[in-house]
Amino acid sequence: MSNVAQILKTMEYGPAPESDAAAQGWLDKHNRSFGLFINGEWAPGHGKLFDSVNPATGKKLATLAEASATDVDAAVKAARAAQPGWAKKGGAARARYLYALARLVQKHSRLFAVLETLDNGKPIRETRDIDIPLVARHFYHHAGWAQLLESEFPGHEPVGVAGQVIPWNFPLLMLAWKIAPALAAGNTVVLKPAEDTSLTALLFAEICNEAKLPKGVVNIVTGAGETGKAVVEHPDIDKVAFTGSTEVGRAIRLATAGTGKKLTLELGGKSPFVVFEDADLDAAVEGAVDAIWFNQGQVCCAGSRLLVQESVETRFIEKLKARMETLRVGDPLDKVTDIGAIISPRQRSQIAEKVARGVKEGAVLFQPKVACPEGCFYPPTLLTNVESASTLAQEEIFGPVLVAMSFRTPAEAAALANNSRYGLAASIWSEDINVALDLAPRIKAGVVWVNCTNQFDASAGFGGYRESGFGREGGREGMFEYLKLKAAKAPPSTPAPSTAPVLSESDAVDRTAKLFIGGKQARPDGGYSRAVFAPSGELLGHVGEGSRKDIRNAVEAAQKAESWSSTSGHARAQILYYVAENLSARSAEFVERIRVMTGTPKGIVAKGVEATVRRLFTYAAWADKYDGAVHSPPLRGVVLAMNEPMGVIGIAAPDEAPLLAFTSLWAPAVAMGNRVVIVPSEKHPLAATDFTQVLETSDMPAGVINIVTGGREELAKTLAEHRGVDAMWYFGANGAAVEAASADDLKRTWIGGPRDWFDASAEGREFLNRATQVKNVWIPYGA
Ligand code: NAD
Ligand code: MN
Repeated sequence: MSNVAQILKTMEYGPAPESDAAAQGWLDKHNRSFGLFINGEWAPGHGKLFDSVNPATGKKLATLAEASATDVDAAVKAARAAQPGWAKKGGAARARYLYALARLVQKHSRLFAVLETLDNGKPIRETRDIDIPLVARHFYHHAGWAQLLESEFPGHEPVGVAGQVIPWNFPLLMLAWKIAPALAAGNTVVLKPAEDTSLTALLFAEICNEAKLPKGVVNIVTGAGETGKAVVEHPDIDKVAFTGSTEVGRAIRLATAGTGKKLTLELGGKSPFVVFEDADLDAAVEGAVDAIWFNQGQVCCAGSRLLVQESVETRFIEKLKARMETLRVGDPLDKVTDIGAIISPRQRSQIAEKVARGVKEGAVLFQPKVACPEGCFYPPTLLTNVESASTLAQEEIFGPVLVAMSFRTPAEAAALANNSRYGLAASIWSEDINVALDLAPRIKAGVVWVNCTNQFDASAGFGGYRESGFGREGGREGMFEYLKLKAAKAPPSTPAPSTAPVLSESDAVDRTAKLFIGGKQARPDGGYSRAVFAPSGELLGHVGEGSRKDIRNAVEAAQKAESWSSTSGHARAQILYYVAENLSARSAEFVERIRVMTGTPKGIVAKGVEATVRRLFTYAAWADKYDGAVHSPPLRGVVLAMNEPMGVIGIAAPDEAPLLAFTSLWAPAVAMGNRVVIVPSEKHPLAATDFTQVLETSDMPAGVINIVTGGREELAKTLAEHRGVDAMWYFGANGAAVEAASADDLKRTWIGGPRDWFDASAEGREFLNRATQVKNVWIPYGA
């Protein structure tokens, strides 16, 4: 029997279980059986049934319906029918519904929290204090975006019907991240929760009716991968938003290639947790607890790779191990539990397998002596003596497992942090603001937390670099993912090209223009060239026939020009002004060249060259003005939303407007600090090859702009496949092939169609937005 003296001696907490009576009562009220939520009503579904289980006990909670393709079709039809009316209501009217949903989440927050814990196995402390409050916050914040939609996103319209597929690790929170912006922007949705965790989504369906949301605006279809596939591949879906594994994300990229569906992917991660020798080590230990043992480590942005400076490694690891001894693993409903149940026996055995393999490869295992219940539980785990290239350090484990490595210098920390195919998040610990803020921009990740970790807020976008996916959720940038620009101005009808003989004597000399790689004229590797003809059929000259090898060389040159990305906007502006002036000085030459090459009347060509010069001045102006933002989330501190260049952008320019379109594409990319490999107009490449002379006289650093002429489709595909290319812009008819080729490394793609390159819509924010990605750096104040 315990007495006060004994309790004081051990300082043990007694059990403090949260009651699950209300949640069990809610399940009973539904006879522990649920259908699909389609058009505001419950439908039985035409597929099989499956169970939702409490992973902590193994007990079945309810029977669910697996939506068949027919059911998904019914849901998409309901969403389609509801969409025009929902959009027409306007932002202010939609804001009222979103506020109502936010308040209903708060009103039922206890029920939501307990139900989430029952279904997912995560500690009640987390669902109660983190998941559900963030859900309410997300709906409130996006109610605000709905209110401001017309004034803050002029020229935009909703995408249409969104198909959304979410994972099991933050079931209701991921639902909120998907549904709130979609509805705010005027879309309707078909959402598929993860098969392990559908219950809070079904409770959410109920509150949609309680909020009197119009029928069909939100549809929830339960089921597993096949149902998800049916949602993603449904031809009447306009936008796909997915969170889950990189493997499925890649399959979705392939499945949607060429369909014109807008796509965002939030995938895996192996995020670094960097501890410098001058960090507050005790705070950093608590940070590590939140980074890797929050939600059993089943967090896409978990700080799962510990990088600690060598001088404090031993001390830090000791402190960490001591702290691990105090973590409580057990009943998720118990308010003192730190680590709850793993989502499923399958996931648990995968974690165990990955750890066992790591130990076999030489890692040293530490698990505290704390009690870990039988069943779907896994103890907090630390692995030391890990190599950066090993599977343990490269592959996502998605469990409570931290792998530790050390570094000596900040440069080494950056290199180790970036030694990953992922780029979701990073956490940096140092009391020296210079050290921390010097490293933040060097880590390739969408979110960087300084002296904190796993912070989320609706006002700050969340999303990855590299194979962690693309697109952002939250913030202004997240709203853009659910909006599209009203159609760009269509190209003007141009007079048919003149086929009259046009050659002047000087042009009659056949010259072979070379490729432009690393600031130098380069012969094509294969030694071949292709003839360029005037519309009259006369031979104008030859250009190099670029090959796979030439693309490789050009990408290498672009990668080497990395310092351009950290050059100041001010400096980039000066070079662009210089390019503009030099082009202006030679505009007569260019007018003549383009007139002869395209057979377009001189007046139109002259306007095009003039517009090109103006466009260059415009992007010189933008170079130091496309700023980020400072967010004020509900914490003492700030979030810096920084617009960072993509890196190396591959560009396939269209045939039309051979100088204007070409420049309209590379100039915004280069102004924002990217380096480009550009394939100019296949039909009329000579304006681009002449342009290299302008570049050579304008102080443009070598490798920033690389030009490879030749067969556009083949070269574009090679660029889209190349792992050294960070984004691919393609203007042409064969976007499907480019999108499919980009799936391997989940490259960002921009597929453009015909447009009026003279029009003001062919410059400005749309282009700058494509040229950058947002990194959110969280900087809390105070101790
Ligand atoms: P998953 O990618 O298979 O599942 C995520 C969602 O996608 C679920 O709703 C699932 O039903 C659905 N889905 C599965 N196959 C699909 C398909 N072909 N088309 C459309 N939808 C499909 O992830 P998982 O199997 O639950 O977990 C596997 C691994 O994924 C984990 O170990 C972890 O590494 C990673 N993961 C990442 C996140 C994240 O937040 N980034 C979340 C969960 C899992
Ligand atoms: Mn479950």
